[in-house]
Amino acid sequence: MNEEILRLDGVTQEYGEGDLLVQALQDVNLTVKRRELVAIMGPSGSGKSTLLSIAGGLQVPAAGGVYIEGRRLGGMTDGEVAKLRRRSLGFVFQDFNLIPTLTALENVILPLELDGFRQRVARRAGAEALESVGLSERMHAYPDDLSGGQQQRVAIARAVVGGRSLILADEPTGALDSVTGEGVLRMLRGRVDAGAAAILVTHEARHAAWADRIVFLRDGRVVDDSRRDGAESLLSGSAR
Ligand code: ADP
Ligand code: MG
Repeated sequence: MNEEILRLDGVTQEYGEGDLLVQALQDVNLTVKRRELVAIMGPSGSGKSTLLSIAGGLQVPAAGGVYIEGRRLGGMTDGEVAKLRRRSLGFVFQDFNLIPTLTALENVILPLELDGFRQRVARRAGAEALESVGLSERMHAYPDDLSGGQQQRVAIARAVVGGRSLILADEPTGALDSVTGEGVLRMLRGRVDAGAAAILVTHEARHAAWADRIVFLRDGRVVDDSRRDGAESLLSGSAR
């Protein structure tokens, strides 16, 4: 099945103006299909986070089109984009964005509750997602009582809960030790193999090695988009 989940078509983004104008993305084309995990690598400031936030409809590009499951975001109302985000997209942000007054489980099931899932169904799906990141025991803890690595895993569970079709993860293993980080990558890979699609921004070659493809960004442009096999010479170490 070669179904297209995400397509960026000539996406350009800029910040500021005049002398302070920053070209964060320039004419980026990218397609991610179902069952495909794409890693994005590139130096700091190359546009990785901007690309993710545009792909997830959190930012509107200055030019170009964003299509999720064939639907153009630019043609939708704000309400339609919000609904699509709740149902189909899962984000893992660099700073986790957990709500401090909600428990781990409550944070994870928030998107499902907003979407009208019955509590019992939502809680079961949330417990499963937390189990998949090895956090069953801390399900009822508040974010402040969790370590950085545990908070990161809650954020990851929230991104995959309820079977999202597109998972967008911005350096999701930054606060994790290597064994836990490896577990998170394996879980992400499993979700993709089960029918999702994902983009993983990472600095680490051994994490990118879990991907089907690696896209390299530099100064807002895609400089290389290779199948993992082709990119192997660029990378050291392989996780699989
Ligand atoms: P990366 O995630 O690869 O480090 P970013 O997408 O965060 O890159 O940033 C790309 C470029 O856009 C950088 O030069 C950054 O300074 C700039 N930038 C990002 N966000 C903003 C913003 N909100 N306002 C102004 N400049 C920004
Ligand atoms: Mg970034």
